[in-house]
Amino acid sequence: MSWDEEFAAQLRELERSTLIRRRRRVDSACGPRLEVDGRELLAFCSNDYLGLAADPALARAAVEGARRYGVGAGGSQLISGYFRPHQALEERLAAFVGAPRALCFSSGYLANLGVIATLMRPGDAVFSDQLNHASLIDGIRLCGADKQVYPHLDLRALESQLAARPGCRKLVVTDAVFSMDGDLAPLPELLALCDAHEALLFIDDAHGFGVLGPQGRGSLAHFGLSSPRVLTMGTLGKAAGVAGAFVAGSEAAIEWLLQSARTYMFETGPPPLLAQATLAAVDLIERGDARRRHLRTLIDGLRAGLRGLRWTLLESATPIQALIIGSNEEAQAVGAALLQQGIWVPVIRPPTVAAGTARLRISLSAAHTVAQLERLIAALTSLA
Ligand SMILES: *Cc1c(COP(=O)(O)O)cnc(C)c1O
Repeated sequence: MSWDEEFAAQLRELERSTLIRRRRRVDSACGPRLEVDGRELLAFCSNDYLGLAADPALARAAVEGARRYGVGAGGSQLISGYFRPHQALEERLAAFVGAPRALCFSSGYLANLGVIATLMRPGDAVFSDQLNHASLIDGIRLCGADKQVYPHLDLRALESQLAARPGCRKLVVTDAVFSMDGDLAPLPELLALCDAHEALLFIDDAHGFGVLGPQGRGSLAHFGLSSPRVLTMGTLGKAAGVAGAFVAGSEAAIEWLLQSARTYMFETGPPPLLAQATLAAVDLIERGDARRRHLRTLIDGLRAGLRGLRWTLLESATPIQALIIGSNEEAQAVGAALLQQGIWVPVIRPPTVAAGTARLRISLSAAHTVAQLERLIAALTSLA
């Protein structure tokens, strides 16, 4: 078999198991209304929770950044690719989330790989919630430490796993808001366990930053927590509406990452214009109480509107609302019927989620109107 024949055989296998994915090309800016294949769709797909991705203030900041600094950073941030907006953004983000220091990466995926692979090594133990994001799982594989997966949110299981590894370096890793279910990790209890076992806690706040906590300061602030035992990763391509990520934590932890995280050292710095746009985004997040209130109204409205349907809406107080349909076939049929009515909701199937829990993953944004939400509720009610 030639290489291409082998690849083609694997692709046919994906087709056969209906796991092949197709991209849809969008011809308009990110928002509730998207132009797709010459058609306008009402979309509940994006992680742009505050509706900032297409905000004119961000675009203006990006243009101003481009005028001043051009487009590319030209090198690693450790060589010549660290510009004034990068420094300003690190300082702004650290102060905003209440940590001594922050470091920016090009993406959340790279930040997670960098943090775990730098902090942990063979002989250490990493404890990971079963539903953690793929980038955390890959980071754990990369670091070579012993991996212990605990059942989703099962702190008693975690406690006995921690107790079984006395005297070794330990890291507990968790999503703050789980990306497919929308539920929250009990961070105070997790931190107490980490304190008791001298473990470090690494929190992936991709879906909490900008949305949760006072002024959107994130999941730690939501619980009123701060601890030198915690490192947080926040993404800047979700609620912040731009791209990239930051890691916030103690002075020493951040300096250690700067000196040795390979996904920081060996990549070209993010374009300074993006840091400039992100600075504008943090201002809007901080002043975004009205957006967050409206988002809360939409979340409550969706949950009330879908109550009593024969499909189960998972418990979630976040903009990620998972409507469990069950079988792959039915989930796909519901997704297709919505599309026919001009409504786009992503269908998530195994292996991304557990078998038998194929679902619609409804993402709400402050950019949605109540009328748009009602259109979705009416469509789902009639389909059910
Ligand atoms: C999106 C996401 C990431 C990756 O962030 P990017 O900036 O998109 O690379 C990491 N963790 C979680 C939980 C995510 O949802």
